[in-house]
Amino acid sequence: MKAKVSIIGAGHVGSTAAHLILQSGIADVVLYDIAEGAPQGKALDLTEAMPLWNVSATCKGTNDYRDTAGSDIVVITAGLPRKPGMSRDNLLLANAEIIRNVVQDTSRSSRECIFVVVTNPMDVMPNLVWKLSGFECRRIVGMGGVLDSARFRTFISMKLGVSPEDVDAIVLGGHGDLMVPLPRFTTVKGVSIVELLDKDIIDGLIERTRNGGAEIVSLLKTGSAYYAPAASIYQMVKAILLDEKRVLPCAAYLDGQYGISGIFVGVPVVLGRLGVERIIELNLRVDEKDHFIKSANAVKALIETVIGK
Ligand code: NAD
Repeated sequence: MKAKVSIIGAGHVGSTAAHLILQSGIADVVLYDIAEGAPQGKALDLTEAMPLWNVSATCKGTNDYRDTAGSDIVVITAGLPRKPGMSRDNLLLANAEIIRNVVQDTSRSSRECIFVVVTNPMDVMPNLVWKLSGFECRRIVGMGGVLDSARFRTFISMKLGVSPEDVDAIVLGGHGDLMVPLPRFTTVKGVSIVELLDKDIIDGLIERTRNGGAEIVSLLKTGSAYYAPAASIYQMVKAILLDEKRVLPCAAYLDGQYGISGIFVGVPVVLGRLGVERIIELNLRVDEKDHFIKSANAVKALIETVIGK
């Protein structure tokens, strides 16, 4: 039987992720939204592309959570996106309420699913999904680091004039202004970028990566990035469904790793059919660890404003 992926929120990110998943043929997709007509219209449009993609997957648009029952993966993209001048944290309370409803309505009928959490502020939301669903922590994973590292890879490849495919990057910590790109662990075909670029250039690329989302928000004027976010979701969904054991930076539950316990925060993980199968602990220098702890503490403070201590 084909895998079933439900995407909650049929907006820019959700519908573009549906497109990528369907075009690959790896799963049937249910596209849920509170807006009437939008998920149905987008699902029909995607379904009509299937013969052109030579794919036999199905896509159902719905306003009824019962259609999501029995999902293998529930991707949460429902929520309000950022407007110019807004930080991800401004979205906190409005989107937390949306997440509460989504988890209540999906976790009971998809008891075996893995949640891929995208809604911002993304660092807080996996913690909320975990508390509300009662699921094992390995079955909840947040999308942030894959996107941040893709942006870092892009800017490095543009600077060095090499293919982005040949750049590997690791970004730890929160998916926000305190994210921690790690130049020492960022390589071009195995060579660390600290050997290829001057420090001030690397600092500039890190700064652009930190502001990667805001740069797009200010260009678009309405809405925020969705092509690269959707591609990041697709990479994670594929890693889970095909049990690829990909090593990807994701928000995952830490239980003592990196000296942090009790929260979800961005770290490299092994992502496979069981969800977060392993946390990879990098051997960080003192300054790198300090940045990471600072970032994790900022995430913790945000979590406490929504969930309490
Ligand atoms: P969008 O406005 O295009 O889509 C959001 C959709 O959610 C809308 O269709 C809306 O009707 C729907 N929605 C609102 N409340 C809902 C509810 N209670 N139940 C179901 N659906 C509901 O926004 P977008 O650009 O697709 O972004 C979606 C979210 O993803 C935002 O929170 C955005 O900040 C976040 N995002 C995160 C990342 C990341 O890296 N984690 C990247 C991009 C966007």
